[in-house]
Amino acid sequence: MKHKHKLRQAIDSLYSCGQVTTEEVYTRLVLECARAGDVEEARRLESHMLLHSYQPANTFLENRLLHLFAKAGKLSYARNLFDKMPKRDIYSWNAMLSAYAKSGSIENLKAVFNQMPSRDSVSYNTVIAGFAGNSFSHEALEVFLRMQEDGFEPTDYTHVSALNACAQSLDLRRGKQIHGKIVASNLGGNAFVWNALTDMYAKCGEIDKARWLFSRMNNKNAVSWNLMISGYLRNGQPGKCIDLFREMQVLGFRPDEVTVSNVLSAYFQIGCIDEAEKLFCVIREKDKVCWTTMIVGYAQHGKEEDALRLFGDMLLENVRPDCFTVSSVVSSCAKLASLHHGQVVHGKAIILGVDDDLQVSSALVDMYCKCGVTNDAWIIFNMMPARNVVSWNSMINGYAQNGLDLEALDLYEKMLMENLKPDSFTFVAVLCACIHSCLFEHGQKYFNSISEIHGLTPSLGHYACMVNLLGRSGQMKEAVDLIKRMPHEPNSLIWSTLLSVCALKGDIKHGEMAARFLFELEPLNAGPYIMLSNMYAAGGKWEEVASIRSLMKNNNAKKFAAYSWIEIDNKVHKFVSEDRTHPDTNLIYEELRRLVKKVQEAGFTPNTKWVLHDVREEEKFESICYHSEKLALAFGLIRRPRGVTPIKIMKNIRVCGDCHVFMKFVSKIIGCPIILRDSNRFHHFEGGNCSCKDYW
Ligand code: ZN
Ligand code: ZN
Repeated sequence: MKHKHKLRQAIDSLYSCGQVTTEEVYTRLVLECARAGDVEEARRLESHMLLHSYQPANTFLENRLLHLFAKAGKLSYARNLFDKMPKRDIYSWNAMLSAYAKSGSIENLKAVFNQMPSRDSVSYNTVIAGFAGNSFSHEALEVFLRMQEDGFEPTDYTHVSALNACAQSLDLRRGKQIHGKIVASNLGGNAFVWNALTDMYAKCGEIDKARWLFSRMNNKNAVSWNLMISGYLRNGQPGKCIDLFREMQVLGFRPDEVTVSNVLSAYFQIGCIDEAEKLFCVIREKDKVCWTTMIVGYAQHGKEEDALRLFGDMLLENVRPDCFTVSSVVSSCAKLASLHHGQVVHGKAIILGVDDDLQVSSALVDMYCKCGVTNDAWIIFNMMPARNVVSWNSMINGYAQNGLDLEALDLYEKMLMENLKPDSFTFVAVLCACIHSCLFEHGQKYFNSISEIHGLTPSLGHYACMVNLLGRSGQMKEAVDLIKRMPHEPNSLIWSTLLSVCALKGDIKHGEMAARFLFELEPLNAGPYIMLSNMYAAGGKWEEVASIRSLMKNNNAKKFAAYSWIEIDNKVHKFVSEDRTHPDTNLIYEELRRLVKKVQEAGFTPNTKWVLHDVREEEKFESICYHSEKLALAFGLIRRPRGVTPIKIMKNIRVCGDCHVFMKFVSKIIGCPIILRDSNRFHHFEGGNCSCKDYW
């Protein structure tokens, strides 16, 4: 600081004296600027020199300034000076190359390289490193070849850049050639070269070869350890990654933030969340990457609440999250369908200035849709400065899931008009919209367009949508034919779709067929047994009901634990069927009995066909009254803040038919809209109707 101050004083006095300054004084000052890395003073000095039409041109001085500007990434200063230079030598050209390489200005880098009157090995090295450093690996390797053709010997520095380019483009063949050359030329004693080789082999999938090189390195540094640890992670061997981490510590190497975030990822990949937490707690200096790895890890393991908590801690510790962190936290809010948390994170995103980011705003669109607030999603979608297929998919899918099917299809047509290429996810959303609205012909048209117009192969997900659509429109035979014709082996998704649609239509014949396949594919899943048994029960086929029940018992099939949750006062309250663990249990059951009485007076009859057991009617009635979504609704009605509507309930599996009718009645009787998000879609209940039009 003191040094810079003196420098400024010196240059100021130069300005004021107005005398002809000697070359020696300029040289001294320029060298001082370079030593202090003071770009702005150098720039002042340069203009001073030009002002006094300093003659004759001192290429040495100008090159020093040029290098200083290039090093500081001051591209415009460098270009200005370069253009004005009366005489340029190879150093001037190399300085310009370095300025463009540093700023990632690849087109200019190419142009200057081609214009150069002559080149030396520094020119080649600068260009190769510039290309490799900016992910232009193909160009980097081309210049690497040209360098040798032009008779220049690559140095260690050249090899490192070329190996980086091979690693980026996964060009193992070229990487091996370079390795051979290094061995033959007796170069490569340098740790950087060994590291680049290790990294190249690890990235190209030859992890054992990388490990062999690593074990022979006698001057390993922290970078070597990190490369090997991330190599194992990349090659899907998180266990080895953790072993190496332990070895590293035993040998006395200090792990840095890069090591820690890789090891955290490794723990999450093998599900050792406790271990990850322990490691995370002991690191004192946590950087953004460590925090983000931990937050994303939680989110990926269904620990959304922990992800949210940690995000709060991260902000308290004054660590600035990036777009990746924020978008994964927004996705956690979407999974929880927690509008409150989603809005808080949205606010943080605005403060952090990342709400305009493509990834973040797409996640926000998805979050608002998953919370049932499509209006807010639409506002964000409209304000996005740029949109990609993910953003469009979020909005189209959001509309489809919220029963705004025509809006979804409309938006899809707009997407095509903007010349965006739909992907597999887009078509799932579009077909879902057609299913909900029973737009059979539209669905068929969109399905055909997947391969015929967009050149994609329809996936099992798309076929399942078509089976659903055909079945719902009463073309069960065509649905079964489609399954037989499709190029994929039918999986449980296809059969369970067929089974559900058979249950909807009461088609026992095809339902039995679908169920048989499911018993084979997923013998432990109780869902298909229950569904088929319900179909038999509805038809009064009690013998078949009994035989399915014993089959289910013999196969030891387990019911998937159904639960519902509701957010009140920023807290999530979870209920299972006939739950009596909530502190407000008595109030909840009292409210629910009151509601049942009211809706019965309004003409509601509980539909007991949704109960598996062949038991007495009153018993059926009891168990169906206390389904988890009904308990959550009753709790919501007693505890929601005054006037807050709609009531929002989430359920982890599909809503049952009885609860669906019940919600419709309640929405009418108490005049309060209810939003129920089940595993399949959103149900917006209002005035006795549901947005799904009773199809889900
Ligand atoms: Zn129910
Ligand atoms: Zn519905």
